[in-house]
Amino acid sequence: MNKRQETIIEIVKENGPITGEHIAEKLNLTRATLRPDLAILTMSGYLDARPRVGYFYTGKKSETLLTDSIRNILVKDYYSDPVVVKDNTSVYDAIVFMFTEDVGTIFVVDEESKLTGVVSRKDLLRASIGKQELSSLPVAIIMTRMPNVTYCFAEERLVDVGKTLIDREIDALPVVAKIEKGLLVIGRISKTNITKALVDLSNNPNGDMEETND
Ligand code: ADP
Repeated sequence: MNKRQETIIEIVKENGPITGEHIAEKLNLTRATLRPDLAILTMSGYLDARPRVGYFYTGKKSETLLTDSIRNILVKDYYSDPVVVKDNTSVYDAIVFMFTEDVGTIFVVDEESKLTGVVSRKDLLRASIGKQELSSLPVAIIMTRMPNVTYCFAEERLVDVGKTLIDREIDALPVVAKIEKGLLVIGRISKTNITKALVDLSNNPNGDMEETND
């Protein structure tokens, strides 16, 4: 919903039933300019229109509005840069990298930057309490490998990724783009990104409201 639509709802809430003409007057706009906004608001169930009476607020609840805002957040709005290592990187170097990058999950890629696996803190700890020589043990041996890696796309809903993290009991997903014979890692979504979205929502519960250009 854009700012003008928000304002229309407020006007109708306070003054409804109110004609389109009167809403336009209050906004110093023409009725024609408002028509698309009114159509959207009527179709999405926020407003109802009665002939010769005008528009009135249907009372779509604020919880519903919040739910809509949450569902409108996409992975691409919140993902971070990917943190990746090549699959021949040693476990030792991966541990150092995990500290320097300050992440809990590292994605593993091949020579062509295609996703091959994922290593988490526990994978590295498990390898560390074994008897192997960490500097000669490649991460590829200990990682969770494709096709068992759960990933997501930039256009997916952030809340669906949240559900996946909970269902699979993992902390992060690679954000990928399909390329020929594989998946290119373009980003990372972790519980931290989802927490950030939650905090942003509390500051602006109606989501990003962009002005439309008529
Ligand atoms: P931690 O090791 O810090 O508890 P996770 O709970 O994310 O981190 O990882 C638990 C296990 O799940 C590890 O073996 C890890 O390799 C695996 N894992 C983590 N992320 C994914 C993912 N996106 N897809 C598949 N497996 C994953």
